[in-house]
Amino acid sequence: MNTTRSSALYKEALNYFPGGVNSPVRAFKSVYGTPLFIERGEGCQIWDADGNQFIDFCCSWGPLILGHNPPTVKAKISEALDKGTSFGAPTRYGNELAALILNNNKYIEKIRFVNSGTEAVMSAVRLARGYTGKNKVIKFEGCYHGHVDHLLVKAGSGLATFGVSDSAGVPQAFAQETIVIPLNDRTALQEAFEQNKGDIAAVIIEPIPANNGLLLQDESFLNCLRLKCHQHNAMLIFDEVISGFRIGFEGAAAYYNIQPDIITYGKIIGGGMPVGAYGANKEIMAYIAPDGPVYQAGTLSANPVAMAAGIAQLTACLQPHFYENLEAKTQQFVASINAHVQTNNYPLNLFSIGSIFWFCFAKADNVRAAHEIQAEKMDYFKRFHHELLQNGVYVGPSGYEVGFVSAAHSEEELKQAQTIICRCLDIVFEKVTTT
Ligand SMILES: *Cc1c(COP(=O)(O)O)cnc(C)c1O
Repeated sequence: MNTTRSSALYKEALNYFPGGVNSPVRAFKSVYGTPLFIERGEGCQIWDADGNQFIDFCCSWGPLILGHNPPTVKAKISEALDKGTSFGAPTRYGNELAALILNNNKYIEKIRFVNSGTEAVMSAVRLARGYTGKNKVIKFEGCYHGHVDHLLVKAGSGLATFGVSDSAGVPQAFAQETIVIPLNDRTALQEAFEQNKGDIAAVIIEPIPANNGLLLQDESFLNCLRLKCHQHNAMLIFDEVISGFRIGFEGAAAYYNIQPDIITYGKIIGGGMPVGAYGANKEIMAYIAPDGPVYQAGTLSANPVAMAAGIAQLTACLQPHFYENLEAKTQQFVASINAHVQTNNYPLNLFSIGSIFWFCFAKADNVRAAHEIQAEKMDYFKRFHHELLQNGVYVGPSGYEVGFVSAAHSEEELKQAQTIICRCLDIVFEKVTTT
């Protein structure tokens, strides 16, 4: 594969940006080579600066549920664009996107648009603190909630440890407001509540943890969270920045039929433009300024061009059988790869839910907590990633990242990808040698 142009662009970018990138995982630090600079995308295909073509399963890390450059989204963006890009005043596009969401989601009654998932989470936590008048937040090891200061914490091994940030620049005092416990661990949850009686403002979780592998939770554990939060007057925050509009239009809340107190959204909601949102019932949302005392604002919030993209994308998601079709083809894709894995007795398993999948490089029936992931096996992923790129399949450059199937992935393209993936696994596990 010729990567001359991408390499040159990367070299140039190193002069401009820390690590040559504007978001760390793009830097190819845990895989071979240097970042590919992407020139364009169409459907499920992308092309890099050297003209190499790939079937894309990164899909911009999740937002592109219709694939790249879908005509309806493009048309709606153009329509809004013709009228101007930003006014710092309300527009009907914001109403339209809100109505589309609220009329089709029984888990929230009001919504506030922001510009990223990080902002949505940051605001949701502030709302939970403002509403409860309490400070501490329980989060789970392996759940990512954006780069919010006090949530950049995953903590050590002990149960209910006080947080120590994974990032420099986060005051210890901030991190100490966060209590980190393992996923799927009721004892730790019980202890965290007991040791911080009356102090817990919120429990925040990715109900479908998908930022550190795919750590599917027992439904009973999520129900237990709901119960504990009720008992202790703490808010249950579902961070649905990935799972929202992905596992069905109403996300994980509907999938598990659990009513959280606050839900955060991002990624798919913006149709490929920078949008985040948080929502709750009317009573809780009444705490947000200008109705209430919790301040939260944004110059470009509910930007009309971004709202237009969201409207077009979510309208497509609401078409009959949209999610059933997406899930059915993902299941078939995953099953066919898993069949190849089993036939050859390779030490890995492909986990999936809805249209999300994850290559787990270990023979395990289930991985429910971050500490169960075998870090030493990531070397397999590194080789796998290299072979996939060489053969025309693009996935996120980290073994901890999940892949996404979009509505634009045709059965034929999925079949093609499946063949390539199986062949690359054969190379990684040395059944065949690289050609
Ligand atoms: C991506 C993500 C975020 C952060 O969203 P950004 O738009 O990258 O700021 C927060 N929470 C979850 C669950 C995410 O997947």
